[in-house]
Amino acid sequence: MRIIVDVDKCIGAGQCVTAAPTVFAQNEDDGMVIVLDEHPSEDKQAGVRSAIRLCPARVIVAED
Ligand code: SF4
Repeated sequence: MRIIVDVDKCIGAGQCVTAAPTVFAQNEDDGMVIVLDEHPSEDKQAGVRSAIRLCPARVIVAED
């Protein structure tokens, strides 16, 4: 899995961090998403899929 995020369209809602805290973080200044792990291991992928579903701006995409 490879994660791609359109940071320009992130609204800093933080659901991704709640769903997958080892994969996503938020910039302390503006709250925009930071991808900590672009190629998450299998044990993290369920959380990533939740993040994709929960992101209100729909800016997270995962390629297999
Ligand atoms: S859930 Fe979506 S909008 Fe919110 S911080 Fe994460 S990527 Fe940005």
